Amino acid sequence: MDFFVDVILPIPLERLFTYSVTSSEAEALQLGVRVAVPFGKSKIYTGLVYRIHNEAPQVYEAKEVDRILDDFPIVNTFQLKHWQWIADYYMCSIGEVFRSALPSALLLESETLILKNSDQEIDESELKDDEFLVYEALQHQSSLKVQEVSAIVDRKNILPVLNRLLEKKIILIKEEIYEQYKPKLVKYVKLGDEYLKEEKLESLLESLTRAPKQSQVVLALFQLQAVHRKPVKVSELEKESGASKAVINSLIEKEILKEYYFQKDRVNYEGESENSELKELNEFQEDAFKAINRSFEEQKTALLYGVTSSGKTEVYVKLIDECIKSGKQVLYLLPEIALTTQLIARLQDYFGEHVSVYHSKYNVQERVEVWNNVLNNKNKARIVIGARSALFLPYNDLGLIIIDEEHEGSFKQFDPAPRYHARDAAIVLGQLHNSDVLLGSATPSIESYLNAKTGKYGFAEIKRRFGNVLMPDIELVDLKEQSRKKRMKGHFSERLFLQIEEALNEGEQVILFQNRRGYAPIVECTTCGHSPQCPNCDVSLTYHQFRKQLRCHYCGHHMALPESCQACGSPTLDTKGFGTEQVEKEIELLFPDAKVARMDLDTTRGKHGYEKIINAFEQQEVDILVGTQMLTKGLDFRNVSLVGIMNADSLLNFPDFRAHERCFQLLTQVAGRAGRTQKRGKVIVQSYNPYHQILNQVSVNDYEGMFKEQLYEREQYKYPPKNRIIKITFKHKEYNRLNESAEWFAQSLRNSFGGNVLGPEYPAVARIRNQYLKHILVKIPKGTSVSGVKSSIRRIEKSFNAVSQYRSVRVIYNVDHI
Ligand code: ADP
Ligand code: ZN
Ligand code: ZN
Repeated sequence: MDFFVDVILPIPLERLFTYSVTSSEAEALQLGVRVAVPFGKSKIYTGLVYRIHNEAPQVYEAKEVDRILDDFPIVNTFQLKHWQWIADYYMCSIGEVFRSALPSALLLESETLILKNSDQEIDESELKDDEFLVYEALQHQSSLKVQEVSAIVDRKNILPVLNRLLEKKIILIKEEIYEQYKPKLVKYVKLGDEYLKEEKLESLLESLTRAPKQSQVVLALFQLQAVHRKPVKVSELEKESGASKAVINSLIEKEILKEYYFQKDRVNYEGESENSELKELNEFQEDAFKAINRSFEEQKTALLYGVTSSGKTEVYVKLIDECIKSGKQVLYLLPEIALTTQLIARLQDYFGEHVSVYHSKYNVQERVEVWNNVLNNKNKARIVIGARSALFLPYNDLGLIIIDEEHEGSFKQFDPAPRYHARDAAIVLGQLHNSDVLLGSATPSIESYLNAKTGKYGFAEIKRRFGNVLMPDIELVDLKEQSRKKRMKGHFSERLFLQIEEALNEGEQVILFQNRRGYAPIVECTTCGHSPQCPNCDVSLTYHQFRKQLRCHYCGHHMALPESCQACGSPTLDTKGFGTEQVEKEIELLFPDAKVARMDLDTTRGKHGYEKIINAFEQQEVDILVGTQMLTKGLDFRNVSLVGIMNADSLLNFPDFRAHERCFQLLTQVAGRAGRTQKRGKVIVQSYNPYHQILNQVSVNDYEGMFKEQLYEREQYKYPPKNRIIKITFKHKEYNRLNESAEWFAQSLRNSFGGNVLGPEYPAVARIRNQYLKHILVKIPKGTSVSGVKSSIRRIEKSFNAVSQYRSVRVIYNVDHI
């Protein structure tokens, strides 16, 4: 009988691929084991075994599996089911889920090697200079890597020279796979096996009396073992004995000592193992805790709606504690892990070494270690805190999932596929494990709040801040009026200015929020009106004063700020609009004694970028922190009495059906950073439309009012939550082809779904990195089968791809686009 495996490959193709294996391989293989398999002409991929069977593929000859990479599965069946759900629901391939789920170090890469073709007679005089250099190098070395060839010919693009050498049959090309993950090994020493017997040991010590240094080493080893009762590192032995490495090595050579290695994780908790006691919950937290547990009894996902600083985290902590006591695993999802050093420290305080962190700023090796710890259900990974990718770890006994700040848009992956919503995918994961799921927020998403209202989710509420701290006092300031009365100092109204002055005088800290980075989003010539645009994108370049640069925030293109207008030569360049950099500069002029820091994408690059700023602010080394929406995410500063929103209008004017909901959430969250201790916090919201409904709802904390109004509007226009949407994006570098193809697709959709198809339309930025973009929105009314609509769309895509001139147009699905 022949044996085959179906494997998932990390590519966008829908189907699985079948490879042949021997019967003994088939016996040893299990689902979730990685195999290296050939693909196409010369590629080798890491595939994941999905099915083992005896059915030969009908239309192609199955190739052989090149190599089996694992003795045991590294992916479990919970994951395979979950990934399949994600692929189906978010309209991508399971291979794409696999690719994004696995730490990249576990996806072996193949590397191209250049070898000498020994069968060929070579006439050296026929070779060009660069060809000769490569040829000569291969006389000394059996194979060359691509970078090596590049160094030899001193050129980046080596394809031409390789092609010529291939044509002349001087070289061969081979793909070699290599494992990227390298365990970190720590070297230890112990006594050689021979000397474990007492009589041997005695005679050893006797014999060493003539070699005092060596005997010192052996005695030091005894000492260390007796005291620490744990393995002894070579470095420790060196230190304790005062002997050199050479002495130790000679003992190893004589087999008196023996070296051995232990694998050690790269990230380890070094804090106290004595942990803090859990805090006693107050009555409101206690009520919420009970309500949550009641919904868990009915196996329902629960929503915890608790105002900012109401003590939600302490409720989570209590639930986590219960869960790990039952021996199960906990997943704590956050929108952006980089911003949560505070939270991680808090959880480590309670749970010490049980806490593992998984995020994108970890390097590939560290990620593999967390993966393996979860896979093996290690104590170390009992509680995993992570951003959305932590959803993909190999949990085998998940008891609780907490989704903190569940309203956050960054839970939705935007690019590349899978374009999943981590909150929703987490709920599905919870169902697979039969685990409890808790969503928490001070500003729940309309979706989740509706689910709670209709009883689909359980519900708990904390209406008061912990310790009876008052909600901040929010004041709206009319910028129109302030300008008219000439009360503005730069972008600061008199009210905001005076409040900052007062806070500084009281020794309190201030947060200023502006949702744009850089100095100014537009540079304009006051003579001819020209403003510099990105050559690759349809967008103006943002001025960054610090570097005297114009930068594109979409593709990263940048140039020095020109001295004069590039269109008319006039030197009269002016800026329009303002970003965080300009706010910072103005503050420095208005309050020269205050210490200012800025937190945005430009100041937080690097592994510890955020931490440094947050720490400095926590330690009160900084008086005023200016920042973008990064400031909103769950930070708890004790001494902030004032929050200023520089310009609320930029949030309201987004062309998006969620703009108002988002504005409410963002402002409420930023406002929530103020006055978290006894003194009531103050928030100043500057706007040209201070009578806007949303701003008024924010100012009186009227979540319910916002919810009702938004829900009504969404229903009117058939938007989520009651209806669903799929956004389809078309991308191509030719303007005409893009237009034509998107129109074709839209027409076919309209034939099936009529008025529920919107577009195609250009987005606000219609060209990014030289690719034109167009969107179509398909609305799926309540009661219509979503999977039915998806398969119709897939059918239309098939016909679309059959039209030869459309085939090169990229079609991107974004289900539940936000
Ligand atoms: P939220 O997550 O709702 O914004 P936090 O959990 O950060 O609120 O709580 C706000 C502050 O109140 C924190 O400093 C926290 O340590 C404190 N706190 C919350 N609950 C308790 C409690 N039961 N006992 C003591 N302090 C608490
Ligand atoms: Zn000009
Ligand atoms: Zn650009």
